[in-house]
Amino acid sequence: MKNKISFSAFHSLGFKIALIILLIGIIPFLVCVPISLRAYKSVSIHTDATNLMAQAAQYNSQIVTSGYILGEENSELDTELKAIADSYNGRILLVNSALKVVKDSYSVDIGKTVIWENIIHSMQGDSLYFYDEETKYLIVSVPLSNSDSEIVGTLVINKSMDYIDQNIDAFISYSLIASVILVSLSIIIAVFAAIHFSRPMTKLSDSLDAIIREYSNELPVNKSFLELELISGKFNEVFKKLQAIDQSRQEFVSNVSHELKTPLTSMKVLADSLNGSDDVPIEMYREFMVDIGDEIDRETKIINDLLSLVRMDKSGAQLNVSAVNINELIEHILKRLKPIAEKAGIEVVFESFRPVVAEVDEVKFTLVVTNLVENAIKYNDEGGWVHISLNSDHQFFYIKVEDNGLGIPEDSVDYIFERFYRADKSHSREIGGTGLGLAITKSAIAMHNGEVKVRSKVGEGSTFDVRIPLNYIEKEVH
Ligand code: ADP
Repeated sequence: MKNKISFSAFHSLGFKIALIILLIGIIPFLVCVPISLRAYKSVSIHTDATNLMAQAAQYNSQIVTSGYILGEENSELDTELKAIADSYNGRILLVNSALKVVKDSYSVDIGKTVIWENIIHSMQGDSLYFYDEETKYLIVSVPLSNSDSEIVGTLVINKSMDYIDQNIDAFISYSLIASVILVSLSIIIAVFAAIHFSRPMTKLSDSLDAIIREYSNELPVNKSFLELELISGKFNEVFKKLQAIDQSRQEFVSNVSHELKTPLTSMKVLADSLNGSDDVPIEMYREFMVDIGDEIDRETKIINDLLSLVRMDKSGAQLNVSAVNINELIEHILKRLKPIAEKAGIEVVFESFRPVVAEVDEVKFTLVVTNLVENAIKYNDEGGWVHISLNSDHQFFYIKVEDNGLGIPEDSVDYIFERFYRADKSHSREIGGTGLGLAITKSAIAMHNGEVKVRSKVGEGSTFDVRIPLNYIEKEVH
């Protein structure tokens, strides 16, 4: 575990920021130093060569007109050229048009023929220079011409360029000192930056740890950076949602327990009252047994409804979609419900504006229609009516379930789709139900990417409008 943590330190934001700052500090330095040295060397050689050429050109007329190029003695020129050669720690050669050395500041090659490439080029009128990397000498050759512009010889000046290396050595030692200072500064800045940027993250992580331990706590908004402020805000939104889910789960569990307990309690009371007395008339037995049977039916209905709801709630719950003839399906459902309606004295009318075939899950869609029509019959008065209509356009099909029954109180309309919610509790108890039907209906419609709306007025009746796409499109699960 310890190993893992020390290894993950290299993955930490702080380490990465420190590394970036170090690299930003050091890389430009490492790149710039060699480039500047190269530039310095080539500029120095070029400048020196240009100066030497200009200097050599100055002696052109003096060397040619005095006959010095022809080998005549001129002690003044000898001294001057020697002084120049000495000042460059180099050598000066004077070569005539026959490529013979006429003068040599070293006095060793006089009379010798030199066939150097540069001299041959200069004899054709070009001033040239060449830097010998090995000997560190700059060699400049300049053509000498007479008054008729004929080339009569070449003046060759060699100059020692040792000073470049000396300067470069000095530059490198200064650079080394600078690099030590730079690296130290970069490390200090990197460490500070790493601490500055990673501390708020650690704080956020600590706050999350505290929340994991205590669950209900709110995350303190981290204002170190705008991004962290946004993240902590989002975390708080998530926590609120989780708390709401947790609360609704608790409510759901307590409602389920309560609803499941109610029929059991009734059965217990009925059974106890039969058990308690010795001579219970047979009619009373029958009556109580019918009541117990009703309570068992109620318990079964609650359990079945709960199972339907849980199946739909399961994340990733699948729809078994197929092309269904909606007209036929509704007629089939109504056929099943008509006896109940007739018993209650309610007229059920189905009106279809066009044949509709849609991609739905037949079982879940049957629950939608059954629950809505069952409710319209249940929450109605004798002699009332229920109208069911079916229509469609190119995109959706529409089902309207309308009744002229009891209606829903205004302050209950927003809650009727919630689990176990029953408007007008005392009345509902008489009518019977689980409070789960509309929750199942809403879930099933949502799974089909549809929607349901309700309009109602107490004493006048209710209308449920359902809209579902004709073609089922599976929603992406993120
Ligand atoms: P229940 O099992 O109680 O019928 P539902 O979820 O189907 O549960 O309905 C929730 C509540 O909405 C019902 O208890 C009832 O008060 C109200 N309700 C639903 N449909 C109608 C309707 N057509 N007319 C009047 N009230 C209705």
